[in-house]
Amino acid sequence: MKFEARDVDLYYGSKQALKKINMDIEEKEVTALIGPSGCGKSTFLKILNRLHDLNPNVRIEGDVKLDGKDIFAEMDPIEVRRRVGMVFQSPNPFAKSIYNNVAYGLKLAGIKNKTELDDRVKKALEDAALWDEVKDRLNSSALGMSGGQQQRLCIARALAPGPEVLLMDEPTSALDPISTSKIEDLCHSLKQHYTIVIVTHNMQQALRVSDKTAFFLLGEVIEMNETQELFSNP
Ligand code: ADP
Ligand code: ADP
Repeated sequence: MKFEARDVDLYYGSKQALKKINMDIEEKEVTALIGPSGCGKSTFLKILNRLHDLNPNVRIEGDVKLDGKDIFAEMDPIEVRRRVGMVFQSPNPFAKSIYNNVAYGLKLAGIKNKTELDDRVKKALEDAALWDEVKDRLNSSALGMSGGQQQRLCIARALAPGPEVLLMDEPTSALDPISTSKIEDLCHSLKQHYTIVIVTHNMQQALRVSDKTAFFLLGEVIEMNETQELFSNP
């Protein structure tokens, strides 16, 4: 799977928030979007799973392709969201049990068989490095977990339906350093199976987790390159 954005402009009403964004996002890599607050990182990320569809005030121009298929003209939003999972800045688990948070999307996708649900919930929790911590309390409320656990639960919930891409919008900015490093470790293990795009305002984090980095400034990508290359140039 590969994303290709070509000359993407985005307007909130009359205000232009993205200008001529061109970006290739490659399979099994971590791509970091960095830059100061308000420069369009989150706005760009939300294009990739058609989250702006919900906002009638948004107008998008240009092309975004997922494996050569235009995500707006040739795919429906349900297909895009099935293939592209997302995790937000603040952990936002449902007020349900740990199990049901992860099973939710699977049930929506029509999976009813209890054994299959159990297996897939377990697999997603393992992939999110959470299984060992929660396997004895799957029926407890997700709201009783620590912030870091809640964020890994949100990752498990996003992974359960089997997306190819995982988008993460500043996933550690509400977390303590230990929880942050757990999420950063996850980026490394998950990229073997998923394409990951992470928004961060922390250059050190981009350096630790990403293969490629795109610098945003005032709605434009001013530079994109291999992370190691970018950070080795003075
Ligand atoms: P970043 O993620 O880099 O902090 P954002 O993508 O959130 O930046 O915001 C880019 C610009 O678009 C900012 O000026 C912000 O205020 C504006 N913006 C973001 N969301 C909306 C919205 N829903 N409606 C109008 N303007 C928005
Ligand atoms: P985050 O900090 O999580 O990236 P955003 O910057 O996107 O959050 O802003 C949080 C919410 O406020 C979002 O729903 C966003 O669309 C909205 N928002 C941000 N800036 C504006 C703005 N200038 N006008 C209207 N809504 C905005």
